[in-house]
Amino acid sequence: MDWKNLPGSGGNIEDRRGGGGLPGGGIAVGGVGGLIIALIAMFFGIDPSVVLGGGSESPPAQTQTQTPSGASSQASDENYQFVNNVMRNTNLVWGSIFQKAGRTYTNPSLVLYTRGTQSGCGAANSAVGPFYCPNDNKVYLDTSFFSQMDRQLGGGGDFAYAYVIAHEVGHHVQNELGIADQVERKQRAARTEAEANSYSVRLELQADCFAGVWGNASQTDAKITQADVQEAVRTAEAIGDDNLQRQARGGVVPDSFTHGSSQQRVNWFMTGFRSGDPNQCDTFSKAYNQL
Ligand SMILES: [Zn+2]
Repeated sequence: MDWKNLPGSGGNIEDRRGGGGLPGGGIAVGGVGGLIIALIAMFFGIDPSVVLGGGSESPPAQTQTQTPSGASSQASDENYQFVNNVMRNTNLVWGSIFQKAGRTYTNPSLVLYTRGTQSGCGAANSAVGPFYCPNDNKVYLDTSFFSQMDRQLGGGGDFAYAYVIAHEVGHHVQNELGIADQVERKQRAARTEAEANSYSVRLELQADCFAGVWGNASQTDAKITQADVQEAVRTAEAIGDDNLQRQARGGVVPDSFTHGSSQQRVNWFMTGFRSGDPNQCDTFSKAYNQL
């Protein structure tokens, strides 16, 4: 993947690395409703002990900005550049898709942090993984997560990292389209936990599909190869609820799925990637057992 070649301007990155964070968590702010829990339910429904058990080594490519004025070091900071390029390109791609539909896309921001920081959805820390907060329209990302992917979650790779970012941006797109609000209402009205979880699965699979739509639009500029696509597919497989549950507790309980199975995540990512058409990402009309 040639991410340096991705067009776009201004990724809206808020760099909070190496200062101003809340190590180990901090105090959650109010307003954390059902939707937030569903969305924060995270990209990776991983047991924090798995995350924290990985040791404390630093990722090889990560250059932490130790001074408040990190602007000069950002230029030579690959993590920052990568995230910025992916974000600015998602802005370009979604901006144009919205424009064609006669709508206006409001660009999200992305907060890069280390260990912990405050979000509009409460305290964020490395253990929760990347997430999108609809209250402040920001994606939160601890870049040590990329090295965790390398070690534990399907092997990583730049297109796999980009998929993670594009999935969170997919949640922003859902927020912009009012889908997130509708899902929140349905979840509140749900009579069983299994029913509420099913809405979460539909939302997550749609975000995977939206990530694929972005991948399709970026493939020429970023020179996406078959090997790149395989990276993203391996990640989608690794983070399926069935796979994570099997690893965490040795068994699988489909009713408790909140993100979808490995196969479903791969299928929906590929649906978006092959078609490049967000209209193919309707995970809400299909029967639940046909997703
Ligand atoms: Zn998600």
